Amino acid sequence: MGYIELNVLNNQSSLAMGIDLGTTNSLAAVWKDGRPVIVHPEGKSGSIPSVIHFPTDGSQLKIGREGRDHAAAAPERTLFSVKRLMGRPEADVQDELARVPFPTSEGEDGVLRVNVDGREFTPQELSALILNRVHDHGCRALNDEKPDRVVITVPAYFDDAQRQATRDAARLAGLDVLRIVNEPTAACLAYGLDQEKSGNVVVYDLGGGTFDVSVLSIADGVFKVLSTAGDTHLGGDDFDNALVGLIIDGLQGDLTEEELKDPGFLTAARLSAERCKHALSTDPQAELHMVLASRGVTFHRTVTRSEFEDLVRPLVERTIDSCRRALSDANLEPGDIDEVVMVGGSTRVPMVQAAVESFFGRIPHTELNPDEVVALGAAVQAHILIGGSRDMLLLDVIPLSLGLETVGGAISKLVMRNSTIPCSVTEGFTTYADNQTGIDFHVVQGEREMVSDCRSLAKFQLKGIPPMPAGMARVAVRFHVDADGLLTVSAREESTGASTRVEVEPMSGLSDEEVERMLLSSVEHAEEDFAVRRAADLVTEIGTMRTATERSLEGVREHLDRETLEDIEAALAASREADTGGTDAERLQAVRDELERATLPLAALLMDDVAKAALSGKRLEDV
Ligand code: ADP
Ligand code: MG
Repeated sequence: MGYIELNVLNNQSSLAMGIDLGTTNSLAAVWKDGRPVIVHPEGKSGSIPSVIHFPTDGSQLKIGREGRDHAAAAPERTLFSVKRLMGRPEADVQDELARVPFPTSEGEDGVLRVNVDGREFTPQELSALILNRVHDHGCRALNDEKPDRVVITVPAYFDDAQRQATRDAARLAGLDVLRIVNEPTAACLAYGLDQEKSGNVVVYDLGGGTFDVSVLSIADGVFKVLSTAGDTHLGGDDFDNALVGLIIDGLQGDLTEEELKDPGFLTAARLSAERCKHALSTDPQAELHMVLASRGVTFHRTVTRSEFEDLVRPLVERTIDSCRRALSDANLEPGDIDEVVMVGGSTRVPMVQAAVESFFGRIPHTELNPDEVVALGAAVQAHILIGGSRDMLLLDVIPLSLGLETVGGAISKLVMRNSTIPCSVTEGFTTYADNQTGIDFHVVQGEREMVSDCRSLAKFQLKGIPPMPAGMARVAVRFHVDADGLLTVSAREESTGASTRVEVEPMSGLSDEEVERMLLSSVEHAEEDFAVRRAADLVTEIGTMRTATERSLEGVREHLDRETLEDIEAALAASREADTGGTDAERLQAVRDELERATLPLAALLMDDVAKAALSGKRLEDV
């Protein structure tokens, strides 16, 4: 039977666009081929600076990167930070107005106006220009398909007036607003966290000029904002300024005080600083380089990452103070947080990631580009709102299970085959030997029970675990598979915060036939695998029991009667033999059970000691 393809005629685009209307940068994304993607026209990438320049000759406005290039030469006609003025009366934004170089006034309707060339513009009108630009830019990437239905994001703390102003801006831009969504909620959607049944999420958003932290709870796919905190004037710009300080210090002798305050000079210095800062996010050192052709002056200096970190440490600490405040407002402790999501270009700074990781005691999500994640989430929301099904479209499944090798060559599977992506699974691991200061991780793929029968994907090591008895270290390992199927494995030791991660493409180099073969072989070998796996697990368990028995026996030997002692010694001897490559699961089970039986009196004695200590008020550690 053949099928006839029907072309449904509809002038409305089947797409809806998500727009992150940012203070510094804006960006659009749509849902395509089952996932959200940023829309960049051919050859252009990156986000669009939220800047509008009004040329003196009255020619076409310059918006975005082009607009920003005029900020130095014509500050009073190059508008930025408009988002800060949205939906707020003049009286409320005095501090903001003191920081911008363009004149403003208040209209009779109480709405603020920005004045350029004797013309007045409301923040809504200016935001409409930016929205228009971002929308156009996106449409060009979509072969001029025009999705006029949009989802726009705003900070979680925006009040009704600020949200309404954002809606008005969209209307002026000719867009149909499906919904205004909170930025942190969008970030969670991009990570698929709405799939979790319940939990608490912190979204840490450090952008260009603002810092916002939000605590959200998820219940049945619905997000609720529990608290927000932050700093309306703290962001990447301050990191840049710290480096500009180095340039100013270095040029003290070459330029006059006046020249060092010149807006043109400062803008050029900020650009050099930002370039150097970006490089320091990946390199241990970078060049801070600036040429002032007009004065024949050159500044050049190498900045190491640790120098940069010393400069920005107080700023990063302020963000952590805000995190503390947001948690306490939500009546939560760091340990109550299940996921931490990083948003904003400035979270690319390694020190920022480290500070957040150490405060919350967990590895934050950084798998998606932090400056794209809000727009991506807005596209997810837009897609859902126009009736797109997420389950069928977005979520691919993982064809083969992913796991880690454990002691004895067995596998602990973290992500099961057929799990939908994106997905995250965290599991706790510990050390096997006393004073073990590193753990080797072996990431494997497949359905069989033993490592030797699976496909090896990657090996990596977590170092820096402090020496402690076996089983005491707490290492959290997270497997995150993103929408592209890329697997990121991260491991973190809780007491020191030592952490490491690797990325692997699990499906690269695997053909469909090979996947099928691996699946078939797991079925064929199911029974035999089960026995081998059981034996391996028993060997591990016996080993752990023996170590524990030997250790407990130390102090209490004299309190046990001879018969019991002999019984235990015999069971221990049998366990030592079993350890050396036992594969007979039945026999191993017997050895294990015998060891458990023989040590019952020992366990009772220890319990007794513990109980006595408790009664006499001694602490357990002293027993
Ligand atoms: P906003 O949400 O405030 O509009 P973004 O999230 O786009 O802004 O963040 C912009 C900031 O991120 C800028 O200060 C920029 O310098 C910074 N940034 C972007 N990439 C990097 C990087 N690789 N390393 C450090 N900072 C970066
Ligand atoms: Mg932002």
